[in-house]
Amino acid sequence: MPDKKSFYITTTLPYVNADPHIGFAFEIVMADAIARYRRDELKEEVFFSTGTDEHGLKIYQKALAQGKDPQLYVDEYVEKFLALKIKLGIHEDLNFIRTTNPLHIKAAMELWNRCFANKYIYPKKYKGLYCIGDEAFIKETELVNGRCPNHPNVELQEIEEENYFFKLTALKQDLERLINKGHEIKPEWAKGQASNFLENLEDISISRDKSKMPWGIPVPNDDTQVMYVWFDALTSYLSTLGWPDTEELFDKFWVNGETLQLAGKDQVRFQSIIWQAMLFAANLEPTKKVFYHGFVTSGGHKMSKSLGNVINPDELLERYKTEATRYLLLRHIHPIEDTDVTWKRLDEWYESHLVNGLGNLVSRIMKLAEDNLVEERDWDTSGYLFKDYPAEKMEEYRVDLVMEYIWAKIGLLDKDIQEKKPWESKDKELIEDLVLNLYRIGRMIRPFMPETSKIIIEATKSNKKPENLFPRINA
Ligand SMILES: [Zn+2]
Repeated sequence: MPDKKSFYITTTLPYVNADPHIGFAFEIVMADAIARYRRDELKEEVFFSTGTDEHGLKIYQKALAQGKDPQLYVDEYVEKFLALKIKLGIHEDLNFIRTTNPLHIKAAMELWNRCFANKYIYPKKYKGLYCIGDEAFIKETELVNGRCPNHPNVELQEIEEENYFFKLTALKQDLERLINKGHEIKPEWAKGQASNFLENLEDISISRDKSKMPWGIPVPNDDTQVMYVWFDALTSYLSTLGWPDTEELFDKFWVNGETLQLAGKDQVRFQSIIWQAMLFAANLEPTKKVFYHGFVTSGGHKMSKSLGNVINPDELLERYKTEATRYLLLRHIHPIEDTDVTWKRLDEWYESHLVNGLGNLVSRIMKLAEDNLVEERDWDTSGYLFKDYPAEKMEEYRVDLVMEYIWAKIGLLDKDIQEKKPWESKDKELIEDLVLNLYRIGRMIRPFMPETSKIIIEATKSNKKPENLFPRINA
């Protein structure tokens, strides 16, 4: 037997200064669906990771404003993210790394030491405008009316201090080479953006004066500085593997496996430039692939408290429950483009594709089976997929298109029942055939809606109609 192929997948780490956002819910459910597909359908060995980004000025200030110790503040927030992962039905094998974990802190310091030893880190006096919204310095040329383009309401802070800098400019050619071979960027627009960033590289500040901002990982051999939160957080993609203490998982998944990072579309500079440069500077393997997804908006606008158009994951889960929430995120949020959602649209999708679609189909077929079939069957769960199953779409992370394909099959089955009227003919062969096709549907939704899949597969084995899968809303 050849060794199983190793596959590593991670989300970005959400910053714990706000409740989980629908964009993060999408990212982690998408990662979960891909991880399940690779593990259960392709039989690969999978390392699936997420976590929380817990240092930095924004968190420090929030904690201070609430009169809380920052550690206590992040401990409380992390609970919300841990709860969300359960409520979204994320696979229990998920690895969860917190950037306040001592093992992570050790990893960030080790990465720093390697970059420093290779002469990619140097001290420099710096003066610039800092946006707390981005936790980043904003260049003069990027200002819009003197403000950060992403945070027009945030007062920029002029910061002047001696920091450590990362020699990004020295890596331009290496990064160019990497983007063409070794580090794959999807979709295509993101690759173009990464190339543009390379045209305007500047060295970046990677530490802060500890007397002004103590909530960070100490810079090795310098008591006066803590690491810039991004340098720290990016290292989590390695610390989650136990690096540098144990190399077993690191070798298996990071060095010799296929590595995939999911990230939002505003992350190209951080994930494909800065992070890859840090890895290169430390003589470590680059990430093999990054997939950048679009944003979720509502009513044509970015979700914001002031607009009152926020749809948060907890509200989704309360209204539609776990399996339907997964369905709505995976089928109706476009993985590449921005997607606009409203409660009205979500309700319509739920009613037409789950209540009247899959739910109704399961009831009809299993009622027929319950009334007319006696012989139970034991499906071989590895087989019986439709021949035209679009596996190549999964390779492109187009989960939405795979689900579109499955729901087209559901539509065809419905039509078949309508035309052949098995409730009149009671034709056993026809009903057997419907049950088999329903089983195939149950098999295909397994990475996306694992519990619903289980219920359908069990029902089709035993000829028992399950309870209503998707109740009407407000019924
Ligand atoms: Zn900003």
